Amino acid sequence: TKTILLNNRPQGKPTVSNFEFVNEDAELKVGEGEILLEAAYVSVDPYLRGRMSDAKSYVPPFELNKPVQSGVVAKVMASKNKNFSEGDYVSGLLSWKTQQISNGEGLLKVDGNKAPLSTYLGVLGMTGLTAYLGLNEIGKPKAGETIVVSGAAGAVGSIVGQIAKILGLRVIGIAGTDEKINMLKSKFGFDAGINYNTSKDINADIKALAPNGVDIYFDNVGGPISDAVLFNINRFARIIICGAISVYNETELPKSVSVQPFLVKNSALMQGFIVSNYAEKFPEAMKHLSGWLAEGKLTYSETIVEGFDNIPNAFIDLFEGKNKGKMIVKI
Ligand code: NDP
Repeated sequence: TKTILLNNRPQGKPTVSNFEFVNEDAELKVGEGEILLEAAYVSVDPYLRGRMSDAKSYVPPFELNKPVQSGVVAKVMASKNKNFSEGDYVSGLLSWKTQQISNGEGLLKVDGNKAPLSTYLGVLGMTGLTAYLGLNEIGKPKAGETIVVSGAAGAVGSIVGQIAKILGLRVIGIAGTDEKINMLKSKFGFDAGINYNTSKDINADIKALAPNGVDIYFDNVGGPISDAVLFNINRFARIIICGAISVYNETELPKSVSVQPFLVKNSALMQGFIVSNYAEKFPEAMKHLSGWLAEGKLTYSETIVEGFDNIPNAFIDLFEGKNKGKMIVKI
């Protein structure tokens, strides 16, 4: 069994030296009520960066010298638990281990015949739920409105934009390369896109693309990109703070730009979003997401990295924008 431990807490951008690989030969024993799992797909997510530091947050930090955990799809190799059979696939929060023992708590059975197994970590997993619930519960979208999505070509952003299109909104995406902007328009049906790395003035670009103002901002990145969007909000705009990847690796508190006047004069709502607060709405969200997928109204991209040993690199690459859509490691 191979395991990846958190060896030390990242200072600034994470590096492979923050992790330690451990190899164990001992055979894993399955006790009464337990199952033996073999990892098939491992999700790497920006939010894990927060758990690698010891700052207080909505989930406890990872402990040093303990395995890192994230969303994993795993195969049941042996079972002494009546709820699971050998050959089943499950999805849940599991350790970065090639094999592990579980009592089955918190695991969901997933069906690779209904949808590719990797999608249970993306569009049919936390990613899809975040996009759907963040947009609907805080954004309260209405047909004809204009939405801006940052981190638009990533896992959550690419789903948010598509749902907004299904609901009849005008959708503008912000992402880091021209290739991503092209993908937003050609594959995901966005109306327009802004490459924040080449734009000379993001504020002016938004003004030009949204002359009537921005009604909803789905924020995945924070920082100056978000300031530029907030300068362009409409009256009664809704701002969903889903993530702030541009500041996750900052070692000092970023200097703030005063966006409050824009919120005040527009009576705008800005609210932080954590997907786990909306668990009672997961079934409803899943029904819509799987329905749209089946009807071909919703699609997705995945960047699949191969090999257990590449999990840390795949995680680090999120901060370089190396992924299009959901970053997943195939074991
Ligand atoms: P993504 O697939 O969007 O991957 C991260 C992307 O962020 C990269 O591809 C990159 O794209 C972009 N990025 C990286 N660094 C920067 C930077 N400095 N400035 C601007 N963009 C940057 O990840 P997810 O879809 O999984 O997550 C998106 C956001 O949503 C994250 O902030 C995450 O923490 C948050 N999230 C929140 C949840 C919640 O419950 N609140 C649940 C799930 C996710 P590019 O090339 O465009 O720069």
